Amino acid sequence: MARRRQLYEGKAKILFEGPEPGTIVQYFKDDATAGNGAKSGVITGKGVLNNRISEHLMLRLQEIGIPTHFIRRINMREQLVKEVEIIPLEVVVRNIAAGSIAKRFNIEEGTRLPRAIVEFYYKNDALGDPLVSEDHIIAFGWACPHDLEEMTGHAMRVNDFLCGLFAGIGIQLVDFKLEFGRQWDGDDSHIVLADEISPDNCRLWDTHTSEKLDKDRFRRDMGSVKEAYQEVARRLGILPEEGNGSDLKGPEAVQ
Ligand code: 5GP
Repeated sequence: MARRRQLYEGKAKILFEGPEPGTIVQYFKDDATAGNGAKSGVITGKGVLNNRISEHLMLRLQEIGIPTHFIRRINMREQLVKEVEIIPLEVVVRNIAAGSIAKRFNIEEGTRLPRAIVEFYYKNDALGDPLVSEDHIIAFGWACPHDLEEMTGHAMRVNDFLCGLFAGIGIQLVDFKLEFGRQWDGDDSHIVLADEISPDNCRLWDTHTSEKLDKDRFRRDMGSVKEAYQEVARRLGILPEEGNGSDLKGPEAVQ
């Protein structure tokens, strides 16, 4: 296979030039980092699981009319996506206090918030992705008011839909992070959901036991990280019941 041009390597994914103009191949790695790179490791099989989970969720969101960058999954670790201009913001939606909001306002983890809260963080590793206001975003030109309105609207719809989807499989959607991109059509642009949606960027708790089924298991050294991701995939119906992960090995699974 001809080697493709690598465009970017992030903490959990590599982006390659796609086969047609305006497309990109997203390769899901097994690498995991936390605390802005302070902690790193490899979770064998994570990339394969996240590729499948994100494909499933993006397709379900497209069915309800959320525009996304997802085109199709290519193989175990890769998916074809539309090339978009990434907006340098992390859009976080929270239903239950956990992680940074619990710390910032001294709220006990697990406390249900009065309503869903949308937050914006400026994507900048050197600054540690600081929380920003809508005024910062507009004043510094990271997005215009119309983009912001579209992102907030999409984020709330994604939250409503995913809360229901996960509730149906015994999982509470505590919070999650989205990234959006701008897709140009001549002089016009519109906002599409980009990146991935997976246990790497969602907090997912078992409804009955509150067991964590997400990347906090890695961040907090709780162990059984891959097993938790597998459990999410199994409940979503995208992993055979008896799946033991033997099909989720390393790069040899790419073909
Ligand atoms: P927190 O602000 O509490 O650390 O994170 C809120 C939610 O957004 C969590 O579900 C977390 O997984 C996700 N999130 C926030 N920032 C990042 C990030 O830089 N990378 C990833 N993978 N997830 C993030």
